[in-house]
Amino acid sequence: MPTQSMSGKAQAPSAETRRIFERRCERYLRRLLPGFGAVFGIGVLCDGLWSDLVESAQSPASLVLRLGLVAIASFAYRMPRSGPPPAVRAGAVYLVHGTALAVTARPLADGVLHAMPLLFVWMVALGLVETRPRRCLQILAPTALLYATLGAFMLPSTAAPVIWAACLAAPALAMSLGGRLLHLRHDIWLRERQLLHACRYDSLSGALSRQYLTELARHDLSLAQRHGRDLSVAMLDIDHFKGVNDTYGHAIGDAVIRALTATCVKTLRTTDYVGRLGGEEFACVLPEAGAEEALACAERVRDAFANLRIPGAPHDLRCTVSIGIAVRRDQHDWETLLREADGALYGAKEGGRNRVKLAEPG
Ligand code: GH3
Ligand code: MG
Ligand code: MG
Repeated sequence: MPTQSMSGKAQAPSAETRRIFERRCERYLRRLLPGFGAVFGIGVLCDGLWSDLVESAQSPASLVLRLGLVAIASFAYRMPRSGPPPAVRAGAVYLVHGTALAVTARPLADGVLHAMPLLFVWMVALGLVETRPRRCLQILAPTALLYATLGAFMLPSTAAPVIWAACLAAPALAMSLGGRLLHLRHDIWLRERQLLHACRYDSLSGALSRQYLTELARHDLSLAQRHGRDLSVAMLDIDHFKGVNDTYGHAIGDAVIRALTATCVKTLRTTDYVGRLGGEEFACVLPEAGAEEALACAERVRDAFANLRIPGAPHDLRCTVSIGIAVRRDQHDWETLLREADGALYGAKEGGRNRVKLAEPG
């Protein structure tokens, strides 16, 4: 169900939008993990082929080890959704594959040094997948530490600084790349939301746009049809609105339009929604409401609006609204239902305005 914003403006990033974006990042990582982990595993096995060429005597033992570790890592990236969070799984994949490289590089002279380019490439590539710098560091830190330690113990003192520099530079590069990408993705995402908001909500009143109202109403109507449940639509039109504009000016007319939307949102149930059809005409969709309930709802709106002091308008200004109601029947589609409500609205206008009228069946 849409939450109706009275401002009509796109929301500034809030704790809620940050949470939604965070969930999006998690979904993104979860989606990429199987492909990312598998390619890393293949890289580890290919590195093994290189080790065979360099020193074939080690190959049977290292092959078994490599295959075993790649298989263990594959559990982490193929885990079901209910398993640990994707960042933890990415860290596990990375550490196990990194260990596979380290273990099989160990018997070779300068093997740790040979494994570094592959590891370096994967560290930077991970920065493009996990764009949140803190998460990226959490994933990369254990493997970087493993290689820094191996470098300290296994390499001559002249070669070790190369490993340490790489272990520092690769995560830093990954984090800065990721951070930049995160910023861009966040920006694009916010603009997408603003665009969506502009399509869905009327900028003057904050009511749903005609297009979005129609989309939601069609959906709710087809559900009501399928399950044989009640649904009503109320069509509203402000009385003598042209006179308000002519007497008080368009700015006050706009305030009246906003006030009617606010009255509807405040008066109706949270499951009901209101959209602006155009000008000073609105439609409220009332799911699960039959004729009696819809009449009572509409009467509440009519009464509240008639007694409302319009914010920012002269004290003596009071406006009224006429309302036509149509109740769903089996053969109704949205257009027919709206046309019936419009007919009832016409009847309410004819009957003297500031009143609610129920459409006659047929
Ligand atoms: P009735 O009681 O029969 O509905 O009379 P009315 O004067 O309300 O009806 P009419 O349809 O003639 O007037 C609608 C007016 O609404 C005409 C138009 O200038 C004005 N209007 C349409 N959109 C806006 C808007 O966004 N802001 C303002 N201030 N006025 C608007
Ligand atoms: Mg009108
Ligand atoms: Mg009018």
